[in-house]
Amino acid sequence: MPNRITLIVKCPDCSNTLMDETHQINGKASIKVNIVTENDRGVLWLCSVYGCVAHENDIELKENETVVFYCPHCNKSLMRDVECKMCNAKMVGFNIKTGGKVNICSRKGCENHYVVFEDLNSAISKFYHEYGVSG
Ligand SMILES: [Zn+2]
Ligand SMILES: [Zn+2]
Repeated sequence: MPNRITLIVKCPDCSNTLMDETHQINGKASIKVNIVTENDRGVLWLCSVYGCVAHENDIELKENETVVFYCPHCNKSLMRDVECKMCNAKMVGFNIKTGGKVNICSRKGCENHYVVFEDLNSAISKFYHEYGVSG
């Protein structure tokens, strides 16, 4: 798996982009979602580099707390009916612009995430083609 692939993701429901060009993490547009915790709501920005777990949020998140993710455009839940194999929290799903999906765990502190490609090879070559990824 090549490193430093940047994921460009959109909402599985309304297909609007979740990329936030104005809020960059590691020099790349971040993935912006609305989040709801047990007693608060806020905004979460995730690093768009695949494998990087850097993120920023405007509300306090407790370690091990699970968070519900919503699309900032259509407000539909981004939660999938898939459980994290590491901690049993629900997974969050985004659609990747070039095809396939990426799932991340909704629990703060759990680093489980994976890409679900329909066709791994063509998706990877599209990443190379579109973003000129090297090494
Ligand atoms: Zn949406
Ligand atoms: Zn987990």
